[in-house]
Amino acid sequence: MFLRKLELQGFKSFADKISLDLSHGITAVVGPNGSGKSNITDALRWLLGEREARNLRGGKVEDLIFAGTKDRPRMGMAQASMYFDNSSGFFPVDYKEVSVSRRLSRDGESEILLNKSEIRLKDVIDFFAKSRMGARGLSIVSQGESDIFINSTPLERREMIEEILGLKEYQIKKAEAVRRLKNTGFNLEKANALIGELAPHLRMLKKQVSRYEGREEIAGELNELENRYYGSRLKKIKDALLKLQPALKDAEKELSKQEVVTKKLEAEITDVRNSGPETDEKIKVIQEKRKNSLDRKFNFQKDLNRLETRLELTQNLPDVKEVNLLAALKDVRNLAYASVEEGTLERLKDTVSKIVSLIDNLFSKGNDASGELKKSMAKLEADIKQTDKELKDLDIAEADSTKHIRQFNEKFKEIFIAFESERNKLIKLKDEKNSLVFESEKLDIKLKDLSVQILEIGRKASDFDVWSGVPLEDEEVAVRRMFRLRGELSAIGEIDQNTIKDYKETEERHTFLVDQVSDLEKAVTDLNKLIEDLDYKIRHEFNSAISHISEEFNKYINALFGGGKAKLTVEEEKDERVLDVEVEGLEVQANEKVESGVYIDVSFPRKRLKGLEVLSGGEKALVSIAALFALISVSPPPFLVLDEIDAPLDEINARRFGELLKNFSKKTQFLIVTHNRATMEAADVLYGVTMSADGTSQVLSIKLN
Ligand code: ATP
Repeated sequence: MFLRKLELQGFKSFADKISLDLSHGITAVVGPNGSGKSNITDALRWLLGEREARNLRGGKVEDLIFAGTKDRPRMGMAQASMYFDNSSGFFPVDYKEVSVSRRLSRDGESEILLNKSEIRLKDVIDFFAKSRMGARGLSIVSQGESDIFINSTPLERREMIEEILGLKEYQIKKAEAVRRLKNTGFNLEKANALIGELAPHLRMLKKQVSRYEGREEIAGELNELENRYYGSRLKKIKDALLKLQPALKDAEKELSKQEVVTKKLEAEITDVRNSGPETDEKIKVIQEKRKNSLDRKFNFQKDLNRLETRLELTQNLPDVKEVNLLAALKDVRNLAYASVEEGTLERLKDTVSKIVSLIDNLFSKGNDASGELKKSMAKLEADIKQTDKELKDLDIAEADSTKHIRQFNEKFKEIFIAFESERNKLIKLKDEKNSLVFESEKLDIKLKDLSVQILEIGRKASDFDVWSGVPLEDEEVAVRRMFRLRGELSAIGEIDQNTIKDYKETEERHTFLVDQVSDLEKAVTDLNKLIEDLDYKIRHEFNSAISHISEEFNKYINALFGGGKAKLTVEEEKDERVLDVEVEGLEVQANEKVESGVYIDVSFPRKRLKGLEVLSGGEKALVSIAALFALISVSPPPFLVLDEIDAPLDEINARRFGELLKNFSKKTQFLIVTHNRATMEAADVLYGVTMSADGTSQVLSIKLN
């Protein structure tokens, strides 16, 4: 059996702990009025998740706790547990045994445990609802509520049937879907409205941003060209500079070596020059001396000649008498006239010399004078000889000096030629070095120029340091192209980053909203489909079940009344009913339009009047019992608690009721509270409930079979 055991302690009149073994097809609970039988059904209803104290016959929740009697103090806590055998897997959990316990203390604390784990009341209600059980509906039919089905409204009847058929779960799902559909519709509207608001702003931004289109491509091409152009040019210059370095170093080395060589030779020249003879001065002195000697010799010669002439004159001179003197004067006068007429200096000199001789002759003593003259002449000749010797010595000295000079000149010439050759080499090396320096400076200038150009295009020379691409084929073409690209870029203008950012954000938001709309539209379609499917399922299952129930109802009416006819009809109601559902942790109320309610149509044998109002209490109870069994016949519940629904029946009908119970007990467990002997006879086990002397309920088991 399914429901195995019920335990109570401190619950209403059950102060002491009691345990009812319920593992039988039909369990009957019997006992005097007020002994506490119905408190047992209350406990079961409480365990199935009843929230309202009044549905448990109490004014407030504390009324569920043993209130005490004059002999027993009140208790602080009420608790109840029921145990199910779940080996059939009736409950969709992995446990073989399922237990539900509920506790309530006077200070208002309450606790519900499912297999000893605490859960919420709502969860317990859901747990049972999924298995078509519940505190309301037809799991428990309380005392005085047996005619609940026939006394209910058509819509309430429909709900009861839905619960029995397990359609309530679908209804909850449908209500959830409807609620979600509403929310989704609302969100869809909101998203569409936002898209509508965003669209013009996005269009405006797009227009602004679209002019930047292609900018990146142009900038990319320009960048590539610049890289190739400036990169290759910089590289060329740097390579050339790098190549120059060793050549320059070599040249400097060579030059300084050559400078040493040249300086050495220069010093040697100075040495040679300093060691040179003072030949020029010496020769000058010699030449001066020679001139003096020659002058002296000339004078000696001249004196000698004069003496010779005098000597000659002396030897031919007559005795000077007055007559001779006059004749001599006459001669002198003639000589003077003659030389004046001739007018030459030579003649004049000669004349003067002759006049002197004439006069000397006149005044000399003849032979005495010639001896003196000869002596003077000999001296003069000796002087001339001496002078000639001097002249010869001077010639030798001059020749010596000249030789010295020649030798010096040759040496000087030799070293000078060597010096000149090295100096020429030095000059050549200097030229070479200078040309290298010049070349390097030229490259430096080029490098600086290029760097300035690079700065002018808004880049840095260091940008190209790592460039190692392919040089341009035609630099001129590239320069023209770069010029054009820069023009295009400046025509497009600088990108306004704020506009771009705004555009991107707006576009992202727009895309997000469009995606959301599409998701929401899909959700709407899915939800509509789900609602349609659930509607179909509910309607289909309900409609097919209702005709079956109607047939069974007719059958039981026939059996219980010994004839008559009964049927259930479904008629459209344009009412709304409210379903409490919980969706995603929120309690919401979903309005669900119900299409139809359930109507009961009965006619009895031997009675003209139709309708339920005309029936006696017992007859009404029979109709209710027929309806109850008709209902559970389509979907037998695992257990059913019936509290004194057989009370108004006479013995024959009680027996018929007992038979029905027996038939149904194969599929459904019954817990029956009864005073009816015939019903008791149908039971497998009887529990007697008594009110003990201290005012608490006690249970005793009376096994029948
Ligand atoms: P009947 O056959 O007349 O229907 P019954 O056996 O079903 O009677 P119950 O209605 O189950 O009787 O029991 C009612 C009894 O339980 C009353 O005597 C009532 O005083 C007692 N009772 C109810 N609540 C409490 C409580 N909180 N503490 C103590 N006793 C309580």
